[in-house]
Amino acid sequence: MSWQDKLRKVKPYVAGEQPRLNNLIKLNTNENPYDPSPKVAEALKGLDWQKLRLYPPSNANALRLALSKYYQVDQENVFIGNGSDEVLALSFLAFFNSSLPILFPDLTYSFYPVYCDLYQIKYKTIPIDDEFQINLKDYYQDNGGIIFPNPNAPTGRLLSFPEIEELVANNPGSVVIVDEAYIDFGGTSVVPLVKKYDNLVVIQTYSKSRSLAGLRIGVALGGKEIIAKLYDIKNSFNSYPVDYIAQICALASIEDDQDKIKKCNKIIQTRNWLVAELRKLNFIVPDSYANFVFVKHKNKSGKEIFAALRKENIIVRRWDLPRIEDYLRITIGTDQEMEQLVDFLKNYL
Ligand SMILES: *Cc1c(COP(=O)(O)O)cnc(C)c1O
Repeated sequence: MSWQDKLRKVKPYVAGEQPRLNNLIKLNTNENPYDPSPKVAEALKGLDWQKLRLYPPSNANALRLALSKYYQVDQENVFIGNGSDEVLALSFLAFFNSSLPILFPDLTYSFYPVYCDLYQIKYKTIPIDDEFQINLKDYYQDNGGIIFPNPNAPTGRLLSFPEIEELVANNPGSVVIVDEAYIDFGGTSVVPLVKKYDNLVVIQTYSKSRSLAGLRIGVALGGKEIIAKLYDIKNSFNSYPVDYIAQICALASIEDDQDKIKKCNKIIQTRNWLVAELRKLNFIVPDSYANFVFVKHKNKSGKEIFAALRKENIIVRRWDLPRIEDYLRITIGTDQEMEQLVDFLKNYL
């Protein structure tokens, strides 16, 4: 037997590409087109570099306190990780350990099946409907846990607060995770429900609405018992996942919520403009509540449009999957970037 036969074999998640080209219009990984809060720049300038000699506070206490005030919960309700992908990875490990399959939508964040494969978690996908909506009534069945993003990715469709509360209330026997990566672009967060239901975990990221994808900060909010279980897993894996610099910059960002709100509103306004323009150009565009749109042209294939955009140095995201092969996911950029995109499409089509 070779050493290769003794390894764990996995099919990794494939993230959107990060090419470093000049004049690139990068609309493929849902980054924010605007700068982070200027408070983050100030915090970086004031950084005590000698502190890097020491390990950072292992549970990011100062940040945790600030987050608890921000979300109006107690500190014990807050978990902080190195990006929400890490928070998700630890959550799958902590909460999904049943012989029953966990449930998630068939079209959703493609990292979920990767974690299942890595940890050998059984899962069952639930089809979203023809309007790309998740119907939570389909999740009323025996399960080892439930996870979905709200708004969903890559579709941008939104579930309402009462629908989610009803599911959580009717599913007391397993954990429900709501991945709110895009909630700041038009949805209502279910964070207030974590005080009421001990089986709910809400995960948010600082990568999208706070323009801090490079910083790697993700948070989970939940009841005190469930958050303590998540810390048990984290402390069995890595004591210091959130570095000193990230803790300080994230703190600065939270203290400037107005900046985030202003930039999110701008992105929503640009999204509304883009949706209207794309519909005029014969695209099918489901309403989106995220910082991207998921679109399909009535006559041209997704593959063709993707390649044509790529030649123009406009990069969007596309999956070679049944049902969505003709769809493109386009991140909302600046007004200027969106105008360039629409101008190109007008000529091309
Ligand atoms: C972007 C994204 C994440 C990951 O965000 P990071 O905090 O940057 O790791 C998680 N869930 C969904 C649905 C996302 O789109």
